[in-house]
Amino acid sequence: MNTWSNWSGSLKFTPGKIIEPASEQELLEIVETILKNNQKIRMLGAGHSSSPLVVTDENLLSLKHFRSVDNIDKENSTAWIGAGLTVKEGGSRLLDHGLSFHNTGDVDIQYIAGAISTGTHGSGIKLKNLSSMLVGCRMICSDGHIKEFTEDQHGKEFFDALRVSLGTFGIMTQMKLKLLPAFQLIRKEWCTHIEDCLEHLVELINENRNFDFYWYPRNDLAKLRILNEPGKGLQKLAYAKCVEEKSGWAIDVLPKQRDLRFDEIEYALPLEAGPECFKEIRKIIKAKFRKIVAWRVLYRTIKADDFYLSPCFGRDTATISLHQNAGAPFEEYFRTIEAVFRSFDGRPHWGKKHNLESEEISQCYPRWNDFLEIRKKMDPRGIFINRYLQKQIFDL
Ligand SMILES: Cc1cc2nc3c(=O)[nH]c(=O)nc-3n(C[C@H](O)[C@H](O)[C@H](O)COP(=O)(O)OP(=O)(O)OC[C@H]3O[C@@H](n4cnc5c(N)ncnc54)[C@H](O)[C@@H]3O)c2cc1C
Repeated sequence: MNTWSNWSGSLKFTPGKIIEPASEQELLEIVETILKNNQKIRMLGAGHSSSPLVVTDENLLSLKHFRSVDNIDKENSTAWIGAGLTVKEGGSRLLDHGLSFHNTGDVDIQYIAGAISTGTHGSGIKLKNLSSMLVGCRMICSDGHIKEFTEDQHGKEFFDALRVSLGTFGIMTQMKLKLLPAFQLIRKEWCTHIEDCLEHLVELINENRNFDFYWYPRNDLAKLRILNEPGKGLQKLAYAKCVEEKSGWAIDVLPKQRDLRFDEIEYALPLEAGPECFKEIRKIIKAKFRKIVAWRVLYRTIKADDFYLSPCFGRDTATISLHQNAGAPFEEYFRTIEAVFRSFDGRPHWGKKHNLESEEISQCYPRWNDFLEIRKKMDPRGIFINRYLQKQIFDL
């Protein structure tokens, strides 16, 4: 029996079987057998989510051999890519064709399919999350057949449900992405006191392409990360010291490498509630958790979207996330601050730790029932959902 563990090590389980097909044809045959035997299947990306999205005692499917990049359309900046490509490999192969993602998260080691399925995002108030790139896919559906879906043919409503669907609609083998012509960025990292950062927050958010900050509870300092195309955005900050500078293609400059493992909780808040929520959290952390919090607190912004289960649905968003070293206790810390996030109408990141259950989480999403209806049509027998999704999230 193979025990499976996520990136941080906080999720461990033993799937009945780990499946790693080499081709679509092989996968179709495997799915046929699974359906015949009335079994279930969960799709795995890079295994970076720390909520139990991929936990199963039945079939766990990795698409790691699906790494094609096809049908490059430079005029419309689109391409079809395999579901087993990481953000890093996908980004660098697209760059060879002069194309780029509009943004990445903090790291580039997720699969693009995994990142899209949970609404993974970077930072930048004019930039939507990564799910917004999805405009088509080839998907093995619950009847065992492979079908091609495009936004043009299947409509905006279907795609707004599909874009953040937690692997519950079917097995995406290839995805059509809306991209940008490749572009260069300059990243500057600045150190300052958190009060200076908060005083200039609105300008920092509005005047830069990508902006986020880390707050370090132990010394009250902040690290500001600012990325802009050459010659654009804020060039000088009188109240901060530039400690790092890097420039190059967006895919080489946007993500960072994270070697230290951690667990994380992140909530998406209405943009205007972000600063008040942060101030409240800062007070509590300083009073109660400063000694145990080895890590920092991350503040980002994202543009609103229409995706039914996107934490940014219908509102420009500020996100705040807490990190704790892998292996260190995080429950009390995360739970205490989660109550503050909720009091500011926060919605949890689907791939990170949270304690919300169906009744409360369904209230976060105005199109919840529409999502459930489409999910049921796509998978009436629940082949693609696990116990966690069935009981804790969807209450089916
Ligand atoms: C170090 C680290 C940094 C992170 N940084 C960020 C960040 O900056 N911003 C952010 O928003 N999040 C961030 N996250 C969270 C992370 O981006 C999400 O949890 C993401 O979903 C992980 O992608 P994955 O490839 O590991 O997918 P997994 O966690 O393996 O799976 C995620 C979901 O995708 C589904 N899925 C995967 N492949 C397919 C497929 N082919 N077809 C259908 N469904 C599929 C799975 O079933 C599952 O529901 C970070 C996580 C870590 C550990």
